[in-house]
Amino acid sequence: MTDYSRMSREDLIERLKELERRVAVSAADADARSTERRLQESALRDSEQRIRAIVNTAVEGIITIDERGGIESLNPAAELMFGYGADELIGRNVSVLMPPPYRQEHDTYIENYKRTGEAKMIGIGREVLGQRKDGTVFPMDLSVGEVRLANCRLFTGFVRNITERKRAESQLAELAQSLAEKNRELETIVYVASHDLRSPLVNIQGFSQELADACAQIQKKLGSPESRTSNQAEIAPLLSEDIPEAIGYILAGVAKIDALLNGFLRFSRLGRAALQPRQLDVSGMLADIARTFEFELKQSGASLKLLPAPSCYGDPTQINQVFSNLIANAIKYAAPDRPAEIEISGRREDGFSVYAICDNGVGIAAEHQDKIFEIFHRLDPSAGEGEGLGLAIAHKILERHGGSIAVESVAGEGSTFYVKIPASNLPLGGF
Ligand code: ADP
Repeated sequence: MTDYSRMSREDLIERLKELERRVAVSAADADARSTERRLQESALRDSEQRIRAIVNTAVEGIITIDERGGIESLNPAAELMFGYGADELIGRNVSVLMPPPYRQEHDTYIENYKRTGEAKMIGIGREVLGQRKDGTVFPMDLSVGEVRLANCRLFTGFVRNITERKRAESQLAELAQSLAEKNRELETIVYVASHDLRSPLVNIQGFSQELADACAQIQKKLGSPESRTSNQAEIAPLLSEDIPEAIGYILAGVAKIDALLNGFLRFSRLGRAALQPRQLDVSGMLADIARTFEFELKQSGASLKLLPAPSCYGDPTQINQVFSNLIANAIKYAAPDRPAEIEISGRREDGFSVYAICDNGVGIAAEHQDKIFEIFHRLDPSAGEGEGLGLAIAHKILERHGGSIAVESVAGEGSTFYVKIPASNLPLGGF
């Protein structure tokens, strides 16, 4: 301890000044600390207010519960959704907001989670049913988060009423189902009609032939032109020209109807045949197809260049048919003044393999580019052989594979057909 009685007056004064300085410094320190505390408190209040404002204005219902399932808080959106005031719910078990069997299951959920740590809901979220105060039940999306505090934990449930979404989903599903049924019905009608119409057609063909034979016989019976009476001379041209000409038209018509019915049959069979998809080596398939076109390519002076193409997931017969149709068309619709140059390439894009079949042929005017995929649509019926079915079939095959076909073309310059097929059987395989 300092003995002040032995100190000189000057030392005492010095000592006093020193003490005054220390007091001043510690007062300034205390001031600074209290300002800092005030600032911290205000920042905390500000942040609390912000969080409360967010929770209070959230569209989703937010409910916090304790470890035993007791409700600790709920925001206005949750009050509105369930038809309760917060004061009616705080302290009650959250299972009151759920209809059976969720109500009974809920306590077991929390118990299981606390015991095993196995989360069926926490951090995951799923569709469940909620129950309002008036007993009505509604579908909701529920996701639960866990908040660990120093000496306890809370669970926060985020709920969203999905009644409208579920209604729209079920309407869409009903629509899709009735559309699929209508489609099946239509395919059956087309199949049965084209099948059954063929037998009367065969009759028309057969009896027309009989008629032609009968005419030939009558004509024979008329004898030579010199021996005919005047009546017989009048009948003769009917038998030799008019009737055979009419029969010729009937048979041409029959052949046309037969081709159309065949087309219908092939088209409708496509929708009925089961797909047998697998991973396809498209480069190999294109090389095989190219060999089958060797004669036509040589004859027309056309060239076919195959660039590397990735594999895809599809039915081998049907995908082969698509590429064969497109190559046949590229040869068939060559420009009159230059030999066809055809190039096929492929690339991967967003889970699909996309192949480009490019030619320098007659091209397709913009206004026709959508129509060529319709059944029996031909831009120029006099242009080469064909029934306007190849692209409709390609379109249908690719649609069934969850893929698509499109064309880019400039009339007079050439066309590129893009064929898109799932690259593998992973998530996009739409079978
Ligand atoms: P088809 O060849 O039997 O007429 P498609 O369905 O294969 O039937 O083709 C429909 C129409 O599309 C053809 O008549 C033709 O006018 C046009 N077309 C198809 N491919 C090409 C092509 N590569 N270049 C120009 N036009 C084409």
